[in-house]
Amino acid sequence: MSQRQHRTLSWQLALGFTLLAGVCALTIGFYVVNARQHVGANYTALVADVVRAQQHPVLLRHTLDRLQESPERAPEERLGNLLWRIPQHINGVSHGLTRSQLDPAEYVPSLDTLHQAAAQLPELQNRVDELQAGVVPVELTRLGYEIENEMARAYSELNELIHVAAAEQRILMERLTWAIGALVLLVLIVVGGLMLALLRLHREREAVKRLSLVDELTGLGNRRYLKEAADRLHEQSLRNGKPLSIALLDLDLFKQLNDRLGHPTGDGVLKAFANAVQEETRQADIVSRIGGEEFCILMPDTSSEGAFEVAERIRHRIAGLTAPTLGASTMLTVSLGLATGQKQGSDFDSLYSRADKALYTAKANGRNCTRIA
Ligand code: GH3
Ligand code: MG
Ligand code: MG
Repeated sequence: MSQRQHRTLSWQLALGFTLLAGVCALTIGFYVVNARQHVGANYTALVADVVRAQQHPVLLRHTLDRLQESPERAPEERLGNLLWRIPQHINGVSHGLTRSQLDPAEYVPSLDTLHQAAAQLPELQNRVDELQAGVVPVELTRLGYEIENEMARAYSELNELIHVAAAEQRILMERLTWAIGALVLLVLIVVGGLMLALLRLHREREAVKRLSLVDELTGLGNRRYLKEAADRLHEQSLRNGKPLSIALLDLDLFKQLNDRLGHPTGDGVLKAFANAVQEETRQADIVSRIGGEEFCILMPDTSSEGAFEVAERIRHRIAGLTAPTLGASTMLTVSLGLATGQKQGSDFDSLYSRADKALYTAKANGRNCTRIA
């Protein structure tokens, strides 16, 4: 993936995430405003107040009916008790409504009707006080039924209003539950998507890093890889006091080989050479291609003698490699320069430069040989 594609992907991710976050914020904001009005309201107590108070008009009607049926048994005490309780319950309902989340415009008309009915109660009480056994004053029943009617209507309106609000609250709670579920799902999808994207980016970065350290032709590490490994191994060698050896290898007269057999054949030889060197070294050794026909082997925990042994083994192996790859008539040889370091204070660059000098000496001494610095 190119740099530009990476940038486009990042932009797309950022834009997508911002849009999703915006939608989430708007949805949450909308529901929070609604929820503040409805969810906190507790209509149960209010409904109970209204239902209890609603019994008063029923009782009033019932008592008035009884009075008309049997005027000789006037229920003054019951009526008086009822008329005393009615205003208290109206005040209770009024208090509950004021504290509720209901819109005052919706309940004030019914409440006014109740207060007007309550205002007529003292007069009704006066009529009750004037009651005489066996006589039913028309004014008392007319006023009583009028108050009862108004109260019944007002309570019925309030009852309906509260039930509608409670039903809306139920619906809102259901929607809220769905919205929260959807939001959680959305968040999970977004987080999952981001994690996947990050994982992909991480893998691509790793792949790019790997590629940047590998030589394409031979599959060995390249010069940058050598540098990284060298710093690590050199530090390790200084820490544990064990020698680190370095071998620089340069194929002899490779230009001539290329000229004679062609570049593609030269490439094949480089690959075969790289394989051979890897086979002749240990797992712990680091083999890298540092230039056209130049290679390097880092040998941790290896003395100068040990390194010389490896170098000679490789040099002899190359002769065996030539015949099957290029035909017996073509000779391929390699020159090697070795250096070993374990002293505190010596840096890797000076070790490398010693090996380079040794390689130069090997070339100067006729090639196809190993020299130690
Ligand atoms: P010397 O013994 O002094 O090292 O001689 P040489 O010819 O090996 O050295 P020189 O540095 O003059 O030439 C190196 C040659 O390696 C030049 C180039 O053609 C060849 N070469 C470098 N990279 C590649 C490659 O990737 N593939 C092939 N086939 N040849 C390469
Ligand atoms: Mg060279
Ligand atoms: Mg060469």
